Amino acid sequence: MQSFQPPRRILMGPGPSDVSPRVLAALARPTIGHLDPEFQALMEEIKGALQRLFNAPDHACVPLPGPGTAGMEAAIMNLLEPGERCVVAINGAFGGRMADMADRAGATVVTVDHDWGLPVDPARVEAALADAPTKVLAFVHAETSTGAKSDAASLCAIARRYGALSVVDCVTSLGGIVVDVAGWDADVVYSGTQKCLSAPPGLSPIALSKRAQAAISGRKEKVRNWLLDFNLLMSYWGGEGGRTYHHTAPINALYGLHESLVAIFEEGQQAAIVRHARMHEALVAGLEAAGLSMLVAEAHRLPQLNTVRVPEGVNEAAVRAHVLKTWDLEIGAGLGPLKGQVWRIGLMGASATAWHVRLCLTALCEALNAQGFAADVKAALAAVDRKLA
Ligand SMILES: *Cc1c(COP(=O)(O)O)cnc(C)c1O
Repeated sequence: MQSFQPPRRILMGPGPSDVSPRVLAALARPTIGHLDPEFQALMEEIKGALQRLFNAPDHACVPLPGPGTAGMEAAIMNLLEPGERCVVAINGAFGGRMADMADRAGATVVTVDHDWGLPVDPARVEAALADAPTKVLAFVHAETSTGAKSDAASLCAIARRYGALSVVDCVTSLGGIVVDVAGWDADVVYSGTQKCLSAPPGLSPIALSKRAQAAISGRKEKVRNWLLDFNLLMSYWGGEGGRTYHHTAPINALYGLHESLVAIFEEGQQAAIVRHARMHEALVAGLEAAGLSMLVAEAHRLPQLNTVRVPEGVNEAAVRAHVLKTWDLEIGAGLGPLKGQVWRIGLMGASATAWHVRLCLTALCEALNAQGFAADVKAALAAVDRKLA
């Protein structure tokens, strides 16, 4: 065997996003014991920083040892017991994954299905909740498979009105658009490190309300997965000091998350959100000047995930292969019903810069021209300059 040397890539897909040098440097610092007092102080600081990031001062916030999907699984498996009713709004791949998990938890799952590219319709969700008593309403705030943003405040308010606990997937939203857990009065909200937090994949920050914690400690049955059982997990992450061993925290990954949180607060959360919005506007202006069009209606677009229609006669996969080979640039393909129909261009965290926008448009126009689609790179870059002037 030889050491693995990854190529240098520019990551503008649906995640992971570019990891900044300061986070990579933090990951390489010496490993210490997970019960070392210095490490416990780091854990406390991360908990507090996540409360601030989520705006969840009264929630328990911890980073779970696993990717964003671990947060989803923890939320569903901890809250639901066999036979309980769960309404899942599905408007893309990740809503579908939540419904599958709720089914595996033994819940009675009711889905509210939407065409891909649309936001979740609060009126249809409300109708599903009005039908029968419901334990959990689950939905995705930022659907990365389509680039559509849903109205989390309204959906959480509907859950409250019908006495259901809300589960909100904020994997792609956290750090890129406003996530306001206290303002929404949301119950369980989870995210991931490799999207707008720009740390490597492997950790899933999660926030649990007092209502959610009470529901979990009052369960009739044990949670069916051990690693993500919140009752056990909090004996490790919960109190200050006095931790009992549950699992060994991914120590260096937590150095990376900590550094990415330091970077976000240095920039300012609001400033980071404005940066995502500006880069999105610049990218869309450039794409449109190049003759391309967006899948999602303007009012519901996610700045950090831009879904672009593949023009008639253009080979979707060949364009991605071209920009990867020629520019070391990764963009995403469509999933499910959007396979072959769209590209997904991420502007997440450290990948949301003017340099990334210009590079992506230059590479994309070159790839399109190679296939005989006339995309005017000069016009695209001029449109970006006008937006960012
Ligand atoms: C990426 C993503 C996930 C899953 O995260 P992983 O880190 O890939 O496990 C879940 N939900 C949404 C909306 C995502 O974008």
